[in-house]
Amino acid sequence: MNELHPDLSRIVVSTDQIQSRVKELADQISADFVGGERLYIIGILKGAFIFLADLTRHLKVPHTVDFMALSSYGKTTTSGAVRILMDLREPIEGQHVIIVEDIVDTGHTLHYLNRVLKGRKPASLRSCVLVRKQRDNLSVPIDYLGFDIPDVWVVGYGLDFADQYRTLPYIAELKRE
Ligand code: 5GP
Repeated sequence: MNELHPDLSRIVVSTDQIQSRVKELADQISADFVGGERLYIIGILKGAFIFLADLTRHLKVPHTVDFMALSSYGKTTTSGAVRILMDLREPIEGQHVIIVEDIVDTGHTLHYLNRVLKGRKPASLRSCVLVRKQRDNLSVPIDYLGFDIPDVWVVGYGLDFADQYRTLPYIAELKRE
């Protein structure tokens, strides 16, 4: 069911594409960590909550889920300034950590997170990102990537505009005004 919301111009990633790719990503993670220690999965709020819920339900390896919230820089501009609004509940020293992010745009958020979390001495640190915009961004390595998408403002599947559209099952481009 991909009926388009009237505020949106086109579907960028369909419900079916998301569902099958999320399962593939979970299978890759499960294969990479099979027989290993418990994973520590960090969802970045608010945008990653739906992706994280679907991803973790497909994981076949033991894992703990935790969340962080970071300041966003506004709706359509990028300053590069990132700040922690809500931190993890536990130390991650010695843990195998995977950051789960909804979208990489400029790359500042993931770059900042990598630096901060590496400083806490995890046993390993990887990232799993649903969509990355094709634009000039910091070349932050992504271990598990869902899709590369055009450089447009997208909503749905956790992504919002002014806290709307998060629960749409697809990712779509928002109409300008
Ligand atoms: P970055 O630090 O990579 O520039 O941006 C990361 C954050 O910007 C994302 O977690 C998200 O909150 C926001 N963001 C960037 N592009 C989009 C977009 O197209 N749609 C939505 N909803 N959020 C975006």
